[in-house]
Amino acid sequence: MKEIRTRFAPSPTGYLHIGGLRTALYSYLFAKQRGGSFVLRIEDTDSARYVDGSVQIIYDTMRDSGIMYDEGPDVGGNYGPYVQSQRKELYQEYAKKLVELGGAYYCFCTPDRISTLKDSEGNTKYDKHCLSLSKEEIEEKLKNGVPYVIRQNVPEEGTGVYTDLVYGEISVDYKDIEDGILIKSDGMPTYNFANVIDDHLMGITHVVRGTEYLSSTPKYNLMYDAFGWERPQYIHLPPIMKDAQHKLSKRNGDASYEDFVNKGYVKEAIVNYIALLGWSPKNNTEKMSLRELSENFSLEGISKSPSIFDEVKMKWLSGEYIKSMTNEEFIEKADKFLKLSKVYGKYDLLKIAELLKTRIEIFSEIPDKINFLEEFGEYDLALFTHKKMKTDTEIAKFVCRKPKRLSKT
Ligand code: GLU
Ligand code: ZN
Repeated sequence: MKEIRTRFAPSPTGYLHIGGLRTALYSYLFAKQRGGSFVLRIEDTDSARYVDGSVQIIYDTMRDSGIMYDEGPDVGGNYGPYVQSQRKELYQEYAKKLVELGGAYYCFCTPDRISTLKDSEGNTKYDKHCLSLSKEEIEEKLKNGVPYVIRQNVPEEGTGVYTDLVYGEISVDYKDIEDGILIKSDGMPTYNFANVIDDHLMGITHVVRGTEYLSSTPKYNLMYDAFGWERPQYIHLPPIMKDAQHKLSKRNGDASYEDFVNKGYVKEAIVNYIALLGWSPKNNTEKMSLRELSENFSLEGISKSPSIFDEVKMKWLSGEYIKSMTNEEFIEKADKFLKLSKVYGKYDLLKIAELLKTRIEIFSEIPDKINFLEEFGEYDLALFTHKKMKTDTEIAKFVCRKPKRLSKT
């Protein structure tokens, strides 16, 4: 059987948002559970949206979260380069092939002409004007350096049908698809073209991405068919919502993986929670390591409806991870936050860990929980951690009583 190959193809437009990381995670889990390969590809052909430093954020986040790729720009592989801006010649070559095959054509229309094509609602649909240019006219214009784009030649009739592995049969009438631009006037490909060329050349067998691409996929399939290439399987994922109306998105400044780590969430809990955003395991277990996730992951468990990001639930999960840590592990993972407390260095950290483990859900709660110890000594800490004083109320009572006693001495 053919090796399973999946990819994550982020655009470097800022931090890696939660939705992006979930796409990466599902893509990773799907490949790993079938012994396949998971590829990272950087989609940086839109220079207007490029944000400096964001490629590094992608590398760092993926490593840090454990969603590690087998091939990618910084680790290499047999299908590189893995950065689209370094593949410009390839797109040019394949665009020309597609023109020869009749799947695309040169368009020399000026922006002025395009702007006259607006319908009553202000939408522009290209009218295939340049499809009727003769070979000679095209060659003449190319020779004279007339600016051009290359457009896809979408049939005017017929329906594109495919079976998505989550959403089932999807069909889109070709008359509703525009002859979109594949190669821009600066020679760079659009996403609509580059994703097809790269997924094919990189041997991707399963394309995992958000539902925003569900209805554009028929036009990609037209290109696979025109080239005579096998279409990949598609796994489109439901959106993640912040509430009933709004999508969770980086455009709205919603928190990223990194933000949650900085807020003191246990990393494994973030990944675990993200896995549950749109997927549920058969056995309904919630706390699962990356390894358990890849053992249990299944396409049947992916939901078609949007899921709502619930920070309270993620916090709870983080608390579960904290409870199950050894004291040593706790000290190591909470290090940064322990150091922020006023009593750092005053007490035995193992005892502090014992006290805190059942009382916090995220590490940033640490300073507030233990700063009161400033007024006490080792002996009191021993009392706090004592079996008989396990609840916060008991501690609070004790703490409130203590200063009085202290003042007498
Ligand atoms: N660069 C695209 C994005 O970030 C990738 C979509 C895909 O996975 O094909 O949305
Ligand atoms: Zn034109």
